[in-house]
Amino acid sequence: MAAEIIDGKAVAAAVRERVASDVEELRAAGVTPGLATILVGGDPASAVYVRMKREDCAQVGIESFHHEPGGDVSQEELAELIATLNADARVHGILLQLPLPDHLDQAPLIEAIDPAKDVDGLTSANAGLLAHDREEALVPCTPAGVLELLAHANVELEGARVAVIGRSILVGKPVATLLLAANATVTHCHSRTRDLGAVCRESDVIVAAVGRPSTVTADMVSEGAVVIDVGTNRVDDRLVGDVDFDAVAAKAGAITPVPGGVGPMTRAMLLVNTVRTARAQTAGAATAATPH
Ligand code: NAP
Repeated sequence: MAAEIIDGKAVAAAVRERVASDVEELRAAGVTPGLATILVGGDPASAVYVRMKREDCAQVGIESFHHEPGGDVSQEELAELIATLNADARVHGILLQLPLPDHLDQAPLIEAIDPAKDVDGLTSANAGLLAHDREEALVPCTPAGVLELLAHANVELEGARVAVIGRSILVGKPVATLLLAANATVTHCHSRTRDLGAVCRESDVIVAAVGRPSTVTADMVSEGAVVIDVGTNRVDDRLVGDVDFDAVAAKAGAITPVPGGVGPMTRAMLLVNTVRTARAQTAGAATAATPH
């Protein structure tokens, strides 16, 4: 059996179209959604990600305000920049591109972002709201994208056995929380999990967010399972996920490719979150706009 390939590019394009029409409504009501991007240091991959995110913004009519302080920026200077953006009414969302250079302490800088502008959903305030199943939580973009892909592929989550591999604050934990909220039975795996293969084989859905190629191999996947590959790894100048794609695709019911699966959804969900924060911050001004 050949798996259905879940086309993240196509789903992301549909999300962008929806966002563009939301932005049009907001603009008609006098509100231009604005996203501030902060890129620190010379990491080429981060520079590409931020450039693509800004291009996405331009495509759907979101204004972007880009800041690129030097790689030697101090903790205090960066905190000051974040405080300025927190106070700027044109900025509805703030994206601090991670990772930061080693001399900076990431956690307090993330916490310095106003939770209402935290479009990456990384502050403890938003993580707490998510843990409490509160709908006002701003959900991190990659996990939100994973759930959107599962919905698009009509995957029944209610009662499904799901293995989430990885427990980072950025991906694994929020994905597991969202899946639990969707009434899945979640087994949360990590580097100390005993017999990962046995857990995966019992699962209807596997979400791999590890950062290690071939973490999920065909012998770990049961016939017809749904496999979502969040991993992005460079191997011989090629981008691969955490899943042995060809062998697993021959056995799974549905699978996301890398590239072209979760990655485009991460970018699309950033736009969704930015429109959401713009709406929330301008509720009076944007009465013409309807909520999602
Ligand atoms: P991370 O913070 O490094 O977390 C990796 C997780 O994988 C950890 O929880 C770790 O367990 C677990 N792990 C490591 N080796 C393992 C093993 N052999 N078996 C089982 N679990 C293992 O990474 P992240 O930020 O969550 O990102 C994960 C991957 O997703 C990376 O490749 C990243 O580039 C990618 N990513 C992609 C997107 C996208 O848009 N496509 C977005 C974000 C991230 P411990 O906690 O025990 O150490």
